[in-house]
Amino acid sequence: MSEAFDVPFTSDVMPEMLTNNSKIKFRCHKGISCFNACCKQADITLTPYDIIRLKKRFDIDSSELLKKHTVPFQMDGDGLPGVKMRTDDSGQCLFMTEEGCSVYEDRPTSCRYYPVAHMAMRPKDAATDSVAYALVREDHCKGHEEDRELTIGEYRKEQDVGLYDEMNREFSQLILKKKSAGPTIGKPSELSFQLFFMANYDVDRFRRFVLSPSFAKNYVLDDAFYKEIEHDDLALMKFGFRLLRQILFGEVSIKEREGALEQRVEERQEVMDLRRKVEIERHRQKEEQKWKEEDGDADKK
Ligand code: SF4
Ligand code: SF4
Repeated sequence: MSEAFDVPFTSDVMPEMLTNNSKIKFRCHKGISCFNACCKQADITLTPYDIIRLKKRFDIDSSELLKKHTVPFQMDGDGLPGVKMRTDDSGQCLFMTEEGCSVYEDRPTSCRYYPVAHMAMRPKDAATDSVAYALVREDHCKGHEEDRELTIGEYRKEQDVGLYDEMNREFSQLILKKKSAGPTIGKPSELSFQLFFMANYDVDRFRRFVLSPSFAKNYVLDDAFYKEIEHDDLALMKFGFRLLRQILFGEVSIKEREGALEQRVEERQEVMDLRRKVEIERHRQKEEQKWKEEDGDADKK
């Protein structure tokens, strides 16, 4: 048994596992009768790297990209946040045009792979992850009937997924680890999930967070780091993976300032005390109001 996280493609079908050298029969081209059919029913889960490519293409802030082009969803029963490409009401991708994909050079990982499913797996008790592939056959896709044979490796090269795979690897490992750790790490807090969302998907907001004085109060990072992440989305994305591994799984790779943890606990305690006081005051005011109303009613009688 193994845990699998299918980064680029999700399907109910679980066909035969393939390797990079396995041969498939497939060809997609503009003249095919089903041209664009897959983009009319698009269910595209985005990776952090997909988002960086798209936001760069449109030259917009990540928050704006998320708002305009994505919808949030939960990746697991604990509510681990994921984002999917926004579609119209019929399920059609908003980037689809009659001529094909309007963001072709920056199309997301799952669009590149389709109809191949790429799966990162962690065999039970194994220390490292492994990768497998599967061919997804859907009725609308006529590419399987084309007379062309090639290996998965050749198909991956044709679709130029090498860089995408490299950039997605740590994200997929993060999710696999969360899945395989299961109840041992417990359900992550709401705050960890917010950080997970921001670090992975809202990279520009994450940058402001990392550059804020409160972040520097907790972590020891040098000037070269701050200089690099000010403009480099990929460096920031990779730092986000490290920070999440540290926070979610206790894999410490970023030095924390001495006393920072205690200070955070104290600050949290103060916030909790404050919240409790506000709650008590709200309750007191509500009770007072009730008494006043009851008194008023009694006077009228
Ligand atoms: S991004 Fe492009 S390839 Fe992917 S679903 Fe949309 S139109 Fe199709
Ligand atoms: S062959 Fe398959 S992948 Fe290509 S356009 Fe048709 S449905 Fe989409």
